[in-house]
Amino acid sequence: MNARLDHRAPLVFDTRELGRRPGALKRVSRSVAAPKDLGIEVIGVREGATVELELRLESVMEGVLVTGTARAPLTGECVRCLEPLERELEADFQEMYSYPDADDRSREADTGDDAEEEDTLFLEADLFDLEPVLRDAVVLSLPLQPVCREDCPGLCADCGARLADDPDHHHEAVDIRWAALQGLAESIQDGEKDNAPRQRGDDPQEK
Ligand SMILES: [Zn+2]
Ligand SMILES: [Zn+2]
Repeated sequence: MNARLDHRAPLVFDTRELGRRPGALKRVSRSVAAPKDLGIEVIGVREGATVELELRLESVMEGVLVTGTARAPLTGECVRCLEPLERELEADFQEMYSYPDADDRSREADTGDDAEEEDTLFLEADLFDLEPVLRDAVVLSLPLQPVCREDCPGLCADCGARLADDPDHHHEAVDIRWAALQGLAESIQDGEKDNAPRQRGDDPQEK
């Protein structure tokens, strides 16, 4: 695929003004609508939500070094109680976009949609596509197991009720059975305690 970058695309940036003199710096701020699937299954940036980008473009010998931060609202759900949750995302990234080798045009052409598979990203006609970099940075900064709060007790294993709403939640029938079992277990242990030491005392291996 040889998809040309579109300079009007929200995540495509133009480095022409930066120039190619090493050391040249340019700061760019941009608000963009989040692309699709910016996140993981349980949490992410909703498509269309505003992503605030702060970029620092630095011209270096081999290309343009892009350092930046993305801020965006996150929406997801608690993995324990399944309640919706909201967070603020702040993801930092740094990526090198190399100048395409002038006498290796085929390589440049290959970097269109396949760029994510390669370690090296290239500038295309002074443009670069931030999307793969943003996507990686966002995913890496997301909590893998988001919870509504650190001590979220989750859901009752018996009825699925949210334990946070009802901390004293319990099921009578289950409690009675447990009590009976526990009582039984305790009496067995007590019995062992009463008998075992005497029996073991007779064992010649014990001193
Ligand atoms: Zn929760
Ligand atoms: Zn329950």
